[in-house]
Amino acid sequence: MSAPVPFPPADTALSDVVRIARDLIRIDTSNYGSGRFEPESVAADYVEAVLAGLGIDATRYERTPGRTNLVARWRGADPSLPALMLHAHLDVVPADPAAWTYPPFAGVIVDGMLWGRGAVDMKNYAAMILAAVSRLVAEGFKPRSDIVLAFFADEEGGTEDGSDWLVDAHPEALAGVDTAIGEGGGYSVNVFGQRAYLMNTGEKGVLWLELSARGQSGHGSLPAVDNPILTLARAVSRIGEIEWPLVMTDTTATLLARLRELAGADPEVTPEQLALVVGPSASRIRAGLRNVSNVTIVAGGYKENVVPETATATVDLRFIPGCAAEAIAHVREVVGDDVEVRTLIELPAFEAPFAGRVINQLQQIIAEVDPGAIILPHLIPGGTDAKPLRRIGIDGYGFIPLLLPDDFAFPRMFHGVDERVPLEALDFGEEVLRRLLQRS
Ligand SMILES: [Zn+2]
Repeated sequence: MSAPVPFPPADTALSDVVRIARDLIRIDTSNYGSGRFEPESVAADYVEAVLAGLGIDATRYERTPGRTNLVARWRGADPSLPALMLHAHLDVVPADPAAWTYPPFAGVIVDGMLWGRGAVDMKNYAAMILAAVSRLVAEGFKPRSDIVLAFFADEEGGTEDGSDWLVDAHPEALAGVDTAIGEGGGYSVNVFGQRAYLMNTGEKGVLWLELSARGQSGHGSLPAVDNPILTLARAVSRIGEIEWPLVMTDTTATLLARLRELAGADPEVTPEQLALVVGPSASRIRAGLRNVSNVTIVAGGYKENVVPETATATVDLRFIPGCAAEAIAHVREVVGDDVEVRTLIELPAFEAPFAGRVINQLQQIIAEVDPGAIILPHLIPGGTDAKPLRRIGIDGYGFIPLLLPDDFAFPRMFHGVDERVPLEALDFGEEVLRRLLQRS
């Protein structure tokens, strides 16, 4: 049962970023998948109203009614400069209230934290963007380059009604953008007393492979001639034994060099061991070093006394940029000629350079707001709205700036129960974005 909701603080006691994040959490935009959703349009109405109050017009784009993608362009003084894009998705994954300490869509503030679905993924960032822009507009600031602010639908359902559709149907909305900052990284980790902020500079690709074995069906009481379940089982266990090699991409080379320096590690410390120094985020870091394959579904047989004709399994293979063809070939080799390998789904991988004006600016800003801290680039194992953006030539990075207490198990907050974020971390994120926009 949920705890009683504490008496809420007055709005005037909250900073803009906290108030906006709380308001957005209170708009339930659950994305249940398979086309079932609470409409993002209600959250888009809220965002549109905030922007309108600042004199920034936004355009609504919908492939499916209720699933609003909102894109605004804050005009810069020099439209010939490449534009910076800041983007958040407005949908969230569902939450079961019975499992939460406080109701997930109440936007409760307790013990210096804002609780609720989306506090981390990622209404926090939508709020940081709006609060930073509000403050700059109030100060009379005008950016040099165009700033594109995008609020997508359907990220949690696979982006089909969101960024994936928008980049094809309305690429003009994002014209001139070369760099985009969205979700996936930005939070602080403590490495032996030194602070670092993770940044995703790329995303692994996704391959769902179906393995199928054919055999000879027959009566379950007789010695089997060719049982496909056994053929498949051998293949499945060989998949489990694959040891994918480390792939030294530019991101990984920079990451390992910085980690080695931070940790003061000897050369014989392996990359896997080195990744452990970032604490609870280590598994995400390690996943970015090499391909990862997991057998996730096994199916075969339909009756206790029948040897079936076929058996199938599904492999979830996440590959490092540039490694897809090689990875499929390796899986084929490992499972052997008796098992057919078919690609069910392939989503591309990408890696953006850990260099350029925006990356340099962010590194400077982090050094200003948290002296001594550095940024650690890494490849994330999943996908975000940055993947479709890549199709129209935009370098997408994940960086939601959050200075977190060292004992805060942050990675567990993503899609987790009792998702919450410290209020001070929201203020910190707004400050970083404000400084970034000032340089744009
Ligand atoms: Zn997200």
